[in-house]
Amino acid sequence: MASSAATAARTTARNGKTTRKTTTKPATPVKEEVKTAPATAPEQPKQPTKAERREAGKTAIEGMIADFAKDPVADGMVPLSFMLVNGDFRVHRPDCKSVITDFMKSDYTEPAAMGAASARAAVLELWDDQIRESDTIADATNPTEDELAVYYGATDFHGCVKFPGDADAGSVKRDAKHALARAMIEAMGAAYANLDPKVKEALGGDLAAGAIASAWVHHLPTGENAGKRIWPTDSLPRPDRSDWR
Ligand SMILES: [Zn+2]
Repeated sequence: MASSAATAARTTARNGKTTRKTTTKPATPVKEEVKTAPATAPEQPKQPTKAERREAGKTAIEGMIADFAKDPVADGMVPLSFMLVNGDFRVHRPDCKSVITDFMKSDYTEPAAMGAASARAAVLELWDDQIRESDTIADATNPTEDELAVYYGATDFHGCVKFPGDADAGSVKRDAKHALARAMIEAMGAAYANLDPKVKEALGGDLAAGAIASAWVHHLPTGENAGKRIWPTDSLPRPDRSDWR
């Protein structure tokens, strides 16, 4: 609905000023509204045809763009349109030509709208309820970047989305990949620590066997800290290559 987009934008503009503390409830009412809406559609006597759905989507998108024009998001915030497609959020600028394409793939009755100042703030809002219900995230009001990585991974920022603080929204995915790479090497380190000593002996001892394992994964993108590549385990030696020293 046109007015709900404006309300969502307003709510977010008021509550989402900072990126570190996107807390409380701005996103929840928007999502609940969106999620419950499709349930009523199948009950209607006549299903809308694909063409009718497309027309309705286009009208809703135009309404959303008009709402944002009338009632812009706060300075530093970016107006966004989003929808859930196969369990992942797709995020666009409202005026992106691809909004209608993703809308047709979603089961939303209309694309939803919000404003966010950063990709992190957008991910926090979009996944707010799942993060709160997660039993693996210790502090649901302030998850770490590693804890957020899984939600970043399931949030697809289209190329049209650029946040003021980010080089591009793709940097979010890059950060998530770093978190994934670190998690994998940590798991490898734990497995190596429990490896049968006879296997290590056969490969020339603990250090030699560990060096082999490290060499296999030296290319994983673990990210950098203060200009030095991050090696997240003590159980395996840092790869012995010039780019790791
Ligand atoms: Zn787009």
